[in-house]
Amino acid sequence: MSEKDPILIVGGGPTGVVLAIELSRRQVPFKIIDSKDRPVPTSRAFTIHAKTLEIFEQLGIVEKYLNTGIKNYGFAFTFEGLSEKPALDFRILRCRYPYILNYSQNETERLLREHLTATYGVDIEWGNRLTGLETDENGTVTATITNQQTQEEEVFKPSYIVGADGVHSYVRKSLNLPFEGEAYEGMIMQMMDTEVEGYEEDPQWTQYFMKENNFLLTTMLPNGKCRLLVSDQGESADRKKNTRRDAFQQVMDEHGVSGTISEPEWTTQWVIWKRLADIYSKGKVFLCGDSAHVHSPSGGQGMNSCIQDAWNLGWKLAMAWRGEAKAELLDTYGDERKPVAQQVIDGTDHMHDIIMAHGKGMEERMALTQSDGWQIEVTERIAGISYTYFGINKLPDGLETLEGGPRIGDRAPDVDYPDFRTLFGYLRSPEFSMILMPASDAEAAKAVDLLNEASGAFGTTVKSFIVSKQPLDAVTCENTILDPEDQTTEKYGRGNEGRIYLIRPDGYVAFKCSFSQFDKLVEFFGYWFNE
Ligand SMILES: Cc1cc2nc3c(=O)[nH]c(=O)nc-3n(C[C@H](O)[C@H](O)[C@H](O)COP(=O)(O)OP(=O)(O)OC[C@H]3O[C@@H](n4cnc5c(N)ncnc54)[C@H](O)[C@@H]3O)c2cc1C
Repeated sequence: MSEKDPILIVGGGPTGVVLAIELSRRQVPFKIIDSKDRPVPTSRAFTIHAKTLEIFEQLGIVEKYLNTGIKNYGFAFTFEGLSEKPALDFRILRCRYPYILNYSQNETERLLREHLTATYGVDIEWGNRLTGLETDENGTVTATITNQQTQEEEVFKPSYIVGADGVHSYVRKSLNLPFEGEAYEGMIMQMMDTEVEGYEEDPQWTQYFMKENNFLLTTMLPNGKCRLLVSDQGESADRKKNTRRDAFQQVMDEHGVSGTISEPEWTTQWVIWKRLADIYSKGKVFLCGDSAHVHSPSGGQGMNSCIQDAWNLGWKLAMAWRGEAKAELLDTYGDERKPVAQQVIDGTDHMHDIIMAHGKGMEERMALTQSDGWQIEVTERIAGISYTYFGINKLPDGLETLEGGPRIGDRAPDVDYPDFRTLFGYLRSPEFSMILMPASDAEAAKAVDLLNEASGAFGTTVKSFIVSKQPLDAVTCENTILDPEDQTTEKYGRGNEGRIYLIRPDGYVAFKCSFSQFDKLVEFFGYWFNE
């Protein structure tokens, strides 16, 4: 094995494909296999949340989703017998995508695969199963791949291997990595995609109807079908008594939801688990997506957090493969993503207590929606925009704390400029971006000096920009963010001195300091990157 051998991605679901795109963007060779003979055709995840849409924007494909998805305002809750109807209204989100985009997972995956193939000429190798995985004391990984049609075996020594192979992950099991957790006892989730004739609920809201011993979710899919989700203690799953269609119709009628269910397009049922991998990587082996975490579907965050895992890992793996990054950078993947998965589990537990706490009274469950700040806290978390890596990574001693703007580890917010450009547009580079924000015109020359110094210190790993009210003679247009109305400081703060933000390729703040602390930035860079 050498660092220059290709990477192996096991699994061609949303996690594997986003990771493949991230490696392709950085010209890192890899192989992506999937044991199935073709993509999964069923709808599964219907929610694309704001942070995932920001990722799609950075990949240049968000319009395709926005053109055909349904912009859903959020979740409306009806508790049996209570007149008050709380809601999680995603229109309050402070970001470009203040809604949930209803989109079927098979279509989400299709657009991602098409992007991978059309832009980078890469296809998933379908019908190829990982059937053997060994690592030796030197960290060398040996993978055996079996072609499902011919049963021919290929032995492959990848530089790194990523288990994006779902909840029953072969990769995780091969390494005996613990995946602890528990089932939500005594309940069965059932789902159906179907036409509902005479459905009168507002299609721009996902409706949750709660009774003491069951709940019903209804929402519209872009193909005109209705997604119905029922949870109870198994009554409506009892096929001896009912056809699935009759059972769903009965639950709808009980909740007073109008409409007649047609022949279902797809039905499925499952028991809900929450589980979290103990560690996200071991040597050159990584877990990503459902292979590392699984939780209640409340809030629809599964696929979204999987994509966000791949978004976190992709650039790190690419930089390590290229020999630019130290092992410490790869360690940050699990350090950062495992706590997020734990927060997703805690958050879905909270939603679960509102929606599916079967046996508990309506008043008690409704009370959970009444605490101060509930709306903003829960919507930002479900949307994925408030997750932060703040406080996780090592910082240089003596670094001053700058007030205002995102903290180190926070998601960097977007800014709209009068020329219709956006900050995210400037940050679309697959590398790091450094934003220099002089506090006064007099500091512009200092910003130009720092930009030149950064180019010497960081080479092509960092693309630098100076935020300026007017064009700067010494800096090419490409490196100037024209901000005549000073909008960047509104989001990123202002001090007496100019400030520098280093933004990671995944859109989080890597580092923040004043102009005079540029040496701390260089020191910080040394923690993760080779000279
Ligand atoms: C009914 C249902 C509804 C859901 N609703 C939502 C929702 O509304 N919102 C949301 O965000 N999430 C939702 N989810 C969760 C979402 O579907 C998953 O979180 C997501 O698919 C996980 O993506 P993944 O790529 O990590 O794994 P998967 O999608 O499971 O993909 C893993 C791939 O690995 C392949 N594979 C497995 N073993 C091997 C092997 N040994 N060799 C080669 N390939 C292998 C599999 O064939 C598979 O294609 C839902 C899930 C279900 C089942």
